[in-house]
Amino acid sequence: MKSKAMVSLSGGQDSGTCLFWAVSKFDEVEAVSFDYGQRHRVELDCAARLAGHAGVRHTVLELGSAFRQMGGSSLTDESIDSRVDAAGTGNDYAARHGLPSSFVPGRNVILLGYSAALAVTRGAQALVTGVCSTDDAGYPDCRISFVRAYEIALREALDEPELRVEAPLLDLTKAATWLIAAELDCVEEIVEHTHTCYHGDRSERFPWGYGCGRCPACVTRAAGWDEFVAGKAEQSR
Ligand SMILES: [Zn+2]
Repeated sequence: MKSKAMVSLSGGQDSGTCLFWAVSKFDEVEAVSFDYGQRHRVELDCAARLAGHAGVRHTVLELGSAFRQMGGSSLTDESIDSRVDAAGTGNDYAARHGLPSSFVPGRNVILLGYSAALAVTRGAQALVTGVCSTDDAGYPDCRISFVRAYEIALREALDEPELRVEAPLLDLTKAATWLIAAELDCVEEIVEHTHTCYHGDRSERFPWGYGCGRCPACVTRAAGWDEFVAGKAEQSR
């Protein structure tokens, strides 16, 4: 049987790298992105370009305004500052858990569930996700324990005992993720066509890509790039 993977593609550095990783590992690859009312449509534009360049079928699932209706995250609400500390932003869940205001409670549970539903519909045995437990943000649904527990839950829910959740970047630093991109020969693609900046800013081109250069997402991406260029990625793996 041909191996097939469904990649969750947000348009960011991690999922973009996962897309090219999947293309190198599986016979067939598809990508899925989600329109959940994110403030910055540029992510979805990036996802479409990446999928096109990788030559894979790309599906955008429309989730309507559900995340926006729940509110409280700077990713869907323009009135909330994307600063790191959620205290006083109205994102009470994030503040209580010491998470940044960009956190959407349960986002990965919901999105990975949709990915799984589409994967089994299209005959894919693997879900590929760019979740990364080493992110400074420390999102609870990006932890190894969540990924493994959810894999078991999805097998049960879908009666697909062979279904796997592949998270190749799970315990990698951002520098090591750049190194993976280098090994896959897609650094230029990731620099040019992925988006990370919380402000949706693509007006300035840095060595690591486009962004404002100041928000937490840009700072993290830049730091990982600097480490990668300095040759420190190998040791951090
Ligand atoms: Zn930025």
